[in-house]
Amino acid sequence: MSPVSYPYEAPQSQSLFDRASVVTPGGVNSPVRAFRAVGGTPRFMVSGTGPYLTDADGREYVDLVCSWGPMILGHAHPAVLDAVREAVSRGTSFGTPGQGEVELAEEIVARVAPVEQVRLVSSGTEATMSAIRLARGFTGRAKIVKFAGCYHGHVDALLAAAGSGLATFGLPDTPGVTGAQAGDTIVLPYNDLAAVEAAFRAHPGEIACVITEASPGNMGVVPPLPGFNGGLARLCRENGALFVSDEVMTGFRVSKAGWYGLEAAHEGWAPDLLTFGKVMGGGFPAAAFGGRADVMAHLAPAGPVYQAGTLSGNPIATAAGLAQLRGCTDEVYTAVDRVAAEVSGLVSAALAKEGVTHRLQTAGNMFSVFFTEDAVTNYDEAKTQESFRFTAFFHSMLSQGVYLPPSAFESWFVSSAHDERAIERIAAALPAAARAAAEATA
Ligand SMILES: *Cc1c(COP(=O)(O)O)cnc(C)c1O
Repeated sequence: MSPVSYPYEAPQSQSLFDRASVVTPGGVNSPVRAFRAVGGTPRFMVSGTGPYLTDADGREYVDLVCSWGPMILGHAHPAVLDAVREAVSRGTSFGTPGQGEVELAEEIVARVAPVEQVRLVSSGTEATMSAIRLARGFTGRAKIVKFAGCYHGHVDALLAAAGSGLATFGLPDTPGVTGAQAGDTIVLPYNDLAAVEAAFRAHPGEIACVITEASPGNMGVVPPLPGFNGGLARLCRENGALFVSDEVMTGFRVSKAGWYGLEAAHEGWAPDLLTFGKVMGGGFPAAAFGGRADVMAHLAPAGPVYQAGTLSGNPIATAAGLAQLRGCTDEVYTAVDRVAAEVSGLVSAALAKEGVTHRLQTAGNMFSVFFTEDAVTNYDEAKTQESFRFTAFFHSMLSQGVYLPPSAFESWFVSSAHDERAIERIAAALPAAARAAAEATA
């Protein structure tokens, strides 16, 4: 396989992107797809099978994004496709309760012990938005704590990430979010328990919940330091606040019971509410939030906190999600863990061979590379990395048929379908990509 130097041709993708840019802002329906962080033309994919994606120009890529996490069994998995075909033949939406919703909810409750009840929604954004509303409704308190660098979807109150100042009140990061919407959001540095303690001291009886990514993957992979999540749970309990663990990315991906299964289950504490998405939808829009039954009982129609959705629990989405979760056996998690270890090991070895300063960070089977000297424990440290090296690395891999997340601040994802052939293709592309990273200049 001969490395192709950047820029290289993608005429069909370019033509589609040109058309898209006329009718859609920035040419995409979700910003990071636009390649703004790395430059170049986003690839328009036309099909996927197993660990591979094929673009509009007919080029095949080994996929290390997996639709940003959902495709844990690989693309077009036969069991998921069969479930979708079977469901779609019976109609696409009824606006009534249906059996698929019950089965998916039962599967989630069976997997994640602290989830006694669950409500299905259509996106991770909706899940976190609703969990926060419920936490506020349950506690009668207004303020929420989030951490800089943690992403919880594009919820107004959660788009405040005002840097690492101690107990800074959130300033919105985006026009369109008002000071009032973000004003009750306290943004703290990740992995800093003392800052959380200080926030509770400064705002006694005012904090409804602390929300955190169970293990952050949206600033690159930055796992919680030992004791951090458990400390959050304890501080919340002591202060009458709810602990909301956002498992939209980690849920059903890093283990059968998500990050909860890797950490809290052994440490003997539990979040009050958890949010899910991505893997649980099998590639369709299905997400959820759930947790303590006494808290969930406050949701309409059982209780006064309103929450609803026309397509919530959609029969096709729930059939796909259920088929995928049922396919996520112990063997699958073992396989995904092994692929992640193998690929991340190859990446790190290739970079080391070229003398590229980097840190490979892992959280279960999620991983990413930081072009830094030291381990990264929070967003400020993440931002010190030499992203220009990632840009060179990314384009070299892309030109050789390996599709990475188009940003240095994203987790990489593998699937149980990544077989030896796919891994060999990654391995073959790495030497040139590592050399490109070594030679890159800011
Ligand atoms: C992806 C993600 C979300 C948002 O989910 P959408 O389905 O994109 O709205 C929320 N939280 C975390 C941790 C995520 O990774």
